[in-house]
Order: sequence, then structure tokens, then C-alpha cells
Amino acid sequence: MAKRALITGVTGQDGSYLAELLLQQGYEVIGMVRRSSTVGFERIAHIQDDITIVGGDLLDQASLITMLSEFRPEEVYNLAAQSFVQTSWSQPVLTGETTALAVTRMLDAIRIVDPSIRFYQASSSEMFGKVLEVPQRETTPFYPRSPYGVAKVYGHWITVNYRESYGLHATSGILFNHESPRRGLEFAPRKISHGVARIKLGLDSELPMGNLDAQRDWGYAADYVRAMWLMLQRDTPTDYVIASGETHSVRELCQIAFSVADLDWEEHVRVDERFMRPAEVDLLVGDPARATEELGWKRDVDFPALVAMMVEADLALVRRQLS
Ligand code: GDP
Repeated sequence: MAKRALITGVTGQDGSYLAELLLQQGYEVIGMVRRSSTVGFERIAHIQDDITIVGGDLLDQASLITMLSEFRPEEVYNLAAQSFVQTSWSQPVLTGETTALAVTRMLDAIRIVDPSIRFYQASSSEMFGKVLEVPQRETTPFYPRSPYGVAKVYGHWITVNYRESYGLHATSGILFNHESPRRGLEFAPRKISHGVARIKLGLDSELPMGNLDAQRDWGYAADYVRAMWLMLQRDTPTDYVIASGETHSVRELCQIAFSVADLDWEEHVRVDERFMRPAEVDLLVGDPARATEELGWKRDVDFPALVAMMVEADLALVRRQLS
């Protein structure tokens, strides 16, 4: 019999790649979508007929219990969140509700309906924030630097706590930044790839950016969702860091992205205070050794290939919009 999986946040970047992967593995995929959501279905338009879309809300405990009782998934992937770091300063309480407390609502719904359901929590390298160790691994202490990061720390520990308190198969995947042509335009890599395409095709001349010195460990989202699935296939649940192990600055990202389109980044990138953050995460670099050893996980797409893929995709997108 086909396995059934529930994905919250299925319309997002990771949700769409994970849904594709699970469909390929023969799963029946249930995608939870907020009825009041203003988010579009573009990222899953190509697979929408193959998945079951269900209305539910992470702010509403009863809707989660009802959904689990009705569909009885074997696996739940909690990818939904208020995930924009910048926005988390202007909406800190809402961020706490959806990114932190919602994890407890889902875990408790699982405990009540069927404690054998396996649970994946989308944790984030933003939890490491002002890093206490380089590179960051599963045992590195957290020091979040935004309301978003703080909320994710709660989500991580409540996942660990339900595993230890109730014996749930609950896993926190600490994923470093992962990008793709499906990434939202709010995030630096996609903002840059899209900006490059607009400049190349004559729609803009400048790209206003924030802190060019920030360094991240960037990978390709489709590689990272494979790790989520691998984590839930383990007999014994534990937590994993998923990262490339390399770090690159926003400046370097600009350099590579503009050069893919034969442009000089220094002629177009302008530093704009509006994109600076009240507290910054300066350097993130993860150590994926546990995932490599225990899950056999490795990435297929490296940093230059990722940036090139994103710029090419945005050039094609902007060209289509122009024609
Ligand atoms: P995050 O790691 O989840 O916050 O992912 P982002 O892609 O939003 O940001 C990555 C890094 O790029 C952060 O350190 C930002 O401060 C930095 N950055 C520099 N300029 C920009 C910008 O214009 N927009 C965004 N989103 N980030 C920027």
C-alpha cells in the first residue's frame, strides 16, 4: 500500500520540491493549505492534480486533529512558517504563533490521534545566529538573532521534547540556507538572480542590497528536501544538520550572479540602508558529517551551479514576461 504523507507549507519552495520527491517515491501526498492564505499555487501547479489539497490552519488545533484523523498520514512534514527573517521584527508575535507554538499544536495533534506518525520539523541555521562554534553542528549551542530565529529554537526543542517525553518519531532537520528558482524574491539569492535578469534585459539598472559582508552556507533546495525524507526513514529518530560545508559572502554571490549574465556587479549593486537588519547573522557554515555518515546524504548541486541555475531561470522568466 502507498504511504501517505502530509506536508504543511506545500505551496512554498521546499513543500513543492518535497511533494515532487514523495510522488516519485509512490506516496499519496496531502498538502495542507491555509484557507485564508494569499499565497499562490504556482510552485505546485504542475503537480496539483496529483496531490490532495486540504484546508487547515496551524493556528487552529482542532483543524489539525481533524485532518490527521481523516487522512491518517504515516509521515508529517511541518514546513509551514512565517519564514522571512526581516518580517519577523515587524510581526514578532505572529511569527511566534506560526513558527513556534504551531509546532506544539501539530505534535500534540499527533500524540492524540496516532503517536506512530513520523514527524519532521523544519528547523533552521538561523537558530545558530551569533555563532558559538564554527562550523555549526548538531551539538552547537543556539544564539538566535531575530524573532524568527528565536521561534525556530522553540520549534526545535519542543520537537526534541516530544520525542523524549512521548517516544514520538520526531526529527528536527537543521537546514542551512537553501535556494532555487522557486525561492521567494524576499531572499538575497533570488533577489539577486532576478535583479540580474531585469538588469540584463534592460528593465532596471541598479540592485539595492543590504549587508554584502554577510556569509552563508548556501545549497540547492531539491537536494535538501531529499535529506528530510531520509531522516524519516531512519529506525531511530535524531536531529541532523544539512549544509554544504562551504561559506560564501553576499558580495561573492553578486559577483558570480552578474558574471553569469556577462555583467559587472560593481556597476549595478548599490548598498541601501533599508535592507540592513537590526541584528545580523554574520557567518553561517554547517558541518553535515552526521547526515553524510548516517543518512548517506550528499548534495548534487554546488554553489556556482546553483547561482547559474537561478540566473538562467530568471532570465527565461523575465524574457517570457516581456514577450
Ligand atoms: P536568511 O539567512 O534566512 O535571512 O536569508 P536571506 O537570503 O534573506 O539573507 C541572507 C543574508 O543576506 C542576510 O545576512 C542578509 O542580511 C543579507 N542580505 C544582504 N542584502 C540583502 C537584501 O537585500 N535582502 C535580503 N533578504 N538579504 C540581504
